[in-house]
Amino acid sequence: MIEKSIPFHRPSIGVAEEEEVLAVLRSGWLTTGPKTKQFEDEFREAVGAKFALAVSSGTAGLHLALEATGVGPGDKVITTPYTFTATAEVIRYLGADPVFVDIDPETLNIRPDLIVEAMESVDGVKAILPVHFAGKVCPMDQILATASNYGCAVIEDAAHAFPAKLNGKAVGSIGDMTVFSFYVTKPLATGEGGMITTDDAAFAERIKVMRLHGIDRDAYNRRINGNDSHWYYEVVAPGFKYNLTDLASAVGIHQLRKAEMMRDRRQVIAEKYNEAFRSLPVKLPSGMGGDDTHAWHLYVIRLQLDKLSIGRDEFITEMGRRGIGTSVHFIPLHLHPYWREKYQLVADDFPAAHSAYQGAVSLPIFPSMTDAEVSAVIDEVNSIISRNQIR
Ligand SMILES: *Cc1c(COP(=O)(O)O)cnc(C)c1O
Repeated sequence: MIEKSIPFHRPSIGVAEEEEVLAVLRSGWLTTGPKTKQFEDEFREAVGAKFALAVSSGTAGLHLALEATGVGPGDKVITTPYTFTATAEVIRYLGADPVFVDIDPETLNIRPDLIVEAMESVDGVKAILPVHFAGKVCPMDQILATASNYGCAVIEDAAHAFPAKLNGKAVGSIGDMTVFSFYVTKPLATGEGGMITTDDAAFAERIKVMRLHGIDRDAYNRRINGNDSHWYYEVVAPGFKYNLTDLASAVGIHQLRKAEMMRDRRQVIAEKYNEAFRSLPVKLPSGMGGDDTHAWHLYVIRLQLDKLSIGRDEFITEMGRRGIGTSVHFIPLHLHPYWREKYQLVADDFPAAHSAYQGAVSLPIFPSMTDAEVSAVIDEVNSIISRNQIR
């Protein structure tokens, strides 16, 4: 057995992040403050949006974005089952119900024609919540057209999609609101954290109030003009505690500066994998065409199980035995007890999501992977498949 260990993911934290965090620690201002303001300003510039609101997680961001659109009890939100549970759980936080529609078997993104079908058959849809799976951008033109026909909002779950572009336009400046995650494994990592971008001043205002206890800062601003009332504030709603710390923002500022470089490296790795696996019995991830930019947050192969004598789970175990970390994105929501039982979901409702899951394996793809590590992953995938291929 070869002596090696390649983790599924390793964050790219450098000296710049370390020094900025140390400076924040020494400043004495640990929570939301000047660094978070700077991170928001620079992030807003990076995606070309009017507003960027930093929050404590991607999940918090999705919750706040939906709340700002006014989604409430009994309303419906259309989304994909091929995602992390956070995408759908925030709909339940507000007492609304998700309407799950299947994915495209090539891109693994929500199918716009099925969104239209759902719009026609379900009443009370207030929002569409597409997920840019693995960093590949959804067909937003069609989704936005549907949203405008039926008068509902589009909130993009861009947890995987930074930086990414569609027709040259950055994700973050496309839908009504876009939510990013800075969880440790995500393309821009601060440990925990998230960002909401929007061009809509009313949404931004509501999110600002709700992310910090429903406190209206403008009341403070109104009073402070002329008065020394720095202590004054007004609570206008039962808000949440979803602010981002300056410690996290200190990391985020430097992650942002190298985000394009990190994406470029992930794309190089994806291209090496594509080239190496072309003739294997695996389905490769769909790339991007023309003016589009894939974030390559994940590299998901799908084993063609009818051509192999082992299953996906054994493949993963064997990769682990050879020292290579892998993962599965995702166990679709219709297979989790809560979602399955609550909405009586069955596999036949989501044939594409179900079959994608059965063969899916996410391989390591992170910027600090060396060429030798990439080659080692390729060699082990080749070796396991060639030993177990049915000829
Ligand atoms: C990670 C993730 C989230 C949640 O982000 P957190 O920052 O961990 O709360 C939401 N949606 C998708 C698709 C994710 O992968």
